[in-house]
Amino acid sequence: MNLPEILLLGPGPSPVPPEVLSAQAAPLLGHLDPAFLSLMEGIQADLRTALATANPLTLPISGTGSAGMEACLVNLVEHGDRVVIGVNGVFGKRMAEIGRRAGGEVVEVEVPFGRPLDLEEMQHAIDDGPTRIVGFVHAETSTGVLQPLDDLLGRIKEAGALSVVDCVTSFCGAPIQLDALGIDCLYSGTQKCLSVPPGLAPVSFGPRAMAKVAERASPCPSWYLDLSLLGSYWGSERVYHHTAPIAALYGLATGLGLVLAEGLEARWQRHTKIGNAFWQGLTALGLEPAVEAGLRTPMLTSIRVPDGVDELNVRKRLRDVYQIEIGGGLGEWKGRVWRVGLMGHGARMSSVVRVLSALADALNVEGKSVSASEAIAEAERAFGD
Ligand SMILES: *Cc1c(COP(=O)(O)O)cnc(C)c1O
Repeated sequence: MNLPEILLLGPGPSPVPPEVLSAQAAPLLGHLDPAFLSLMEGIQADLRTALATANPLTLPISGTGSAGMEACLVNLVEHGDRVVIGVNGVFGKRMAEIGRRAGGEVVEVEVPFGRPLDLEEMQHAIDDGPTRIVGFVHAETSTGVLQPLDDLLGRIKEAGALSVVDCVTSFCGAPIQLDALGIDCLYSGTQKCLSVPPGLAPVSFGPRAMAKVAERASPCPSWYLDLSLLGSYWGSERVYHHTAPIAALYGLATGLGLVLAEGLEARWQRHTKIGNAFWQGLTALGLEPAVEAGLRTPMLTSIRVPDGVDELNVRKRLRDVYQIEIGGGLGEWKGRVWRVGLMGHGARMSSVVRVLSALADALNVEGKSVSASEAIAEAERAFGD
C-alpha cells in the first residue's frame, strides 16, 4: 500500500492516535484466551464508566454504528409495536427505516434539517399510541444539531415507552450520563469522538429494555445481533457466538484508556472550546454555520456554501493541496453545506489552524477576498479566553 496522510476533519472517521494504531498491530490472542477475556472485561468496565451506567449489558457490537442502531432496534421491536422516531436528518431517517424492517409500526416525526426535534409534536405522536419505543439522535451528524436530552427523555418515560438514543457522534465528545438521564437503550460507534477506527458499536441496554427483550414472543429476527446470544459470550458463560474482532478490540481498549486518562469532563470541554474557536475563525472568513449557536454540536459544524462558490472545488482543493478531508452535505443539504468535524484526536488547535488557512486559500481561489491570518488570530483569541 502507498497511502497518503490525510487529516480527517470530516464527519468521520476521525484521526486515530498512534497508541491505538500500534495496539491494533499487537499479536493476536484467541477469542477465548484468558488474557483476551480479561481485556474484554476491561472494555466493558471502561464503557460503563464512559457512559456513566451500571448496565450489565454494555458491550461493543462487531460492526459500525449502523450495526449498533440495528442491534438496538431488532432486539427491542416486535411485530406491530408502535415506534415513534424523531427525524431531523439522515440518521433519524435510517432509524425509522430499520424500525420498519424490524416489524414496527413506525411513526416519523419530522422537522427540517438544521432544527432540533419539536417536543410538542413528539409528545403528540407518543400520546397517539400506546407507543412502545421512541428513538432519536443525540448529535445529528448530517446537520450538526445537538438534541437536548432531559425534557424529551422525561416525556418518553412518562408515557411508559422505551427510549433508544443514537450517541454515535456525541459519545466521548458531549456529556451523556446514561443512568442519571434514564436512557433505556443507547448505541454508539468508535470512529467519531472516541477516535478508534470504524468497526465497533458500543451499546448499552438498561433494565426496562432488557425486560422487553426477555418478554419477546418470538426470537430476535437477527441471529448475529441477538443480544441474548451476544450476552452469553460477553457474560460469564463465555459461549462461542462469533469470533470477536480481536485487533479491533485492542484498539477500542486502548482508545477508551486514553479517553479516561484525559478525563471525560476535560474531553467534553476540549470539544466545546475547539468548536467555539473554529466558529470564530469561520466568522472572520465570512462563513456562516448552518445551525444557530446554542443548538449546534461542537464536534461537527455544517457551513453554508456562499453564493458563487463551487462546493466541490473547495473540498477537492482541501484534499489535493492541503491533505485535509472535510465532508459535503447529505440529503436536503447536498451541495449546500460543508461539514467539518473536530472530533476526538482531531479536536485540537493545530487542526483548526490548518483547516482555516486551507479554507481561506480555497475561498480566495473562488474569488472571495479573505485573510487566513485574521481568521487564525480570531480562533486563537477565542481559544485563549
Ligand atoms: C456515523 C453515524 C452513524 C452511522 O455509523 P456508521 O459507523 O457509519 O455505520 C449513525 N448515527 C450517527 C449520528 C452517526 O454520526
